[in-house]
Amino acid sequence: MPVPFDLLVKTAIGRVGGRLQLPEEMRLGEFAWSVLQLDEQLIGQAVRFDLRNKDKSISCAKGCGACCKQMVPVSPPEAFMIADVVASYPAARRKELLERMATIRTRLAEAGFNEKFKLEHFKAVAVEYFKMNMPCPFLEEDSCTVHPERPFVCREFLVTSPAELCGDSIHFGKVRAVPLSVRMTDAMSRLAGEVLEKESTAIPLVGCVEWALEHREDAERRFDGPKLMTRLVEMLHEDIQSTAGTPEK
Ligand code: SF4
Repeated sequence: MPVPFDLLVKTAIGRVGGRLQLPEEMRLGEFAWSVLQLDEQLIGQAVRFDLRNKDKSISCAKGCGACCKQMVPVSPPEAFMIADVVASYPAARRKELLERMATIRTRLAEAGFNEKFKLEHFKAVAVEYFKMNMPCPFLEEDSCTVHPERPFVCREFLVTSPAELCGDSIHFGKVRAVPLSVRMTDAMSRLAGEVLEKESTAIPLVGCVEWALEHREDAERRFDGPKLMTRLVEMLHEDIQSTAGTPEK
């Protein structure tokens, strides 16, 4: 039974929130769904603030998949959500997608990436991964086929530098993106670690369906929705305070 929840996140540049209806019991994959809207609000706020002087614009456009060759880390709730989406595909489509994921993982294993798949290593291997030129398994005709449920980092990466810089690793350090108040993947990874009583972790998108299947018991566990959201907001405020000082009152 859904219960009303008044969401309020205060960042250094304003407030976002609104009234949500959250189930009294929900799986982490369902919780990730509930957080997508909050993430969109935080992104919208950051974009409005960054573009306020009108000397910049967002270069990202439909049909540009240049950034979709990067390694995408997802939190456990996102992994469970995406696994649910893939499970809902018709069998042939699911098989094709899982095969694409497996092909990329094989290439990564051959390149010695396996033990580097830890949250703190994602940044360090980003350029190496990009150079391997492996489009995301969800990318078709330069469009995201999982757009409504795409990971937080995919939503949050909005480029203001010229789009042509995005397609080449030699320009990696020159690409400019909208600065954000929070990184939702980090907070959701920590939240999942806390409630599952496990180490906080992130999983590469190309391995997340397999990972979710291996952690099926955790995927099926149910938690109090309002309590999850309350704790997530606390974590976001901790992150905002540590990076930008005291949030707005
Ligand atoms: S999930 Fe979608 S947006 Fe993210 S990398 Fe893959 S194709 Fe691109």
